[in-house]
Amino acid sequence: MKKYVKKNRKTYILLIVFSLIVSILYYNIRKPNAYKIFLNQKYMGYVSDKNIFYDGEREFKNYLENKFEKVKYKDNVILKKSKISGEHLLNTNEVKSKLMDFSTNEVLVYTVKCDGKDMGVICKKNQIKEIFNSIKDIYKDKLKVQNINYFKINNAVTIKERDIKISSISSDLNSMSNVVESNILKQKDLLKIELEVNKEYKTDIKPSTVMKASNKLLKGKRQIQFQGEKGSKIIYESIHLKNNEIINKKIYEEKVIKPSKDKIVLVGTKEPTIVAAMSLSIPSRGKISSPFGRRWGKMHKGIDIAAPIGTPIYAALNGVVKYAGWQQGYGKVVIINHKDGLESKYAHCSKILCKKGDKVNKRQLIANIGNTGRSTGPHVHFEVRKNGVPFDPEKYLQ
Ligand SMILES: [Zn+2]
Repeated sequence: MKKYVKKNRKTYILLIVFSLIVSILYYNIRKPNAYKIFLNQKYMGYVSDKNIFYDGEREFKNYLENKFEKVKYKDNVILKKSKISGEHLLNTNEVKSKLMDFSTNEVLVYTVKCDGKDMGVICKKNQIKEIFNSIKDIYKDKLKVQNINYFKINNAVTIKERDIKISSISSDLNSMSNVVESNILKQKDLLKIELEVNKEYKTDIKPSTVMKASNKLLKGKRQIQFQGEKGSKIIYESIHLKNNEIINKKIYEEKVIKPSKDKIVLVGTKEPTIVAAMSLSIPSRGKISSPFGRRWGKMHKGIDIAAPIGTPIYAALNGVVKYAGWQQGYGKVVIINHKDGLESKYAHCSKILCKKGDKVNKRQLIANIGNTGRSTGPHVHFEVRKNGVPFDPEKYLQ
């Protein structure tokens, strides 16, 4: 009996040890080594450790809370102990992106409309300002200015709150505001932008002309004393635009860098004086038949002295014969050059008694009275000019 008990006990212990080994082995084979994630009752993946999931989930939530103004959490997560062999285990980042794609969480977004047309959605209300600012920047570049004083989009841009499932927008989350911006810009013909910018540019200052009286210059004459010099200045201008069209320009400041120098024109005030002509000797004896001045509506540029044909004609002043010969209308004519720009002429002669280049003295015989050329009777047409301008010689006859 004792022996039986002893043998039985041994078998019993062996049995227990054996079954213990078997169950340990079995347990080890079947022991859970991972967590199976169910997101809203759907399989999402495996993680080796709960904390990996929680880390990923926290990053996901942080991301949403930074990106959006309001998040409504709706996800139902179950982590179930599982035994896996060879299945892929998610890391934190993968957990995050899987959540992005499969989450039923809702976020508050803003639907942007321009003149009633859908432009897309933005994550935060103030992003519309950033969009406007980048449109502003486009204009800054275009107009090559640093600042825009005034900028307004005159279209009806409305933004409206809307809850949306994160999974439905996750793919283009980062470019959402860019999409809205480019959609607004695509409204090219519809866009009503009004802006005002300041521009500055360098420009020339044209010299002005100053008239200066000069008593050294004959009346009626002008002389440039100084040609003038252009200067330069910076113009500060404000420009008002509608889209790309300039509506108004206004100069609000000018800064002179280099002043211009005035052009100076001298205006003659000197009365013409006929000093040398004060003592003309009368060229011939006879009667003054026609004075200087207007005659039958025409200008008579000399005086006529009537005398019989052959009566001597004398030089009125010392001088040199400039011309002796025929001249249309004047007939046979003698022209004498004197000093000080004076010139005398003796016309309608019957005979010329000097030749070109002859030096003649005052009262020297130079020709005889005649009736040649356009003449109504024997006379000498006596004409005196100062610098080419005829004047009345009678006033200066001795
Ligand atoms: Zn005449």
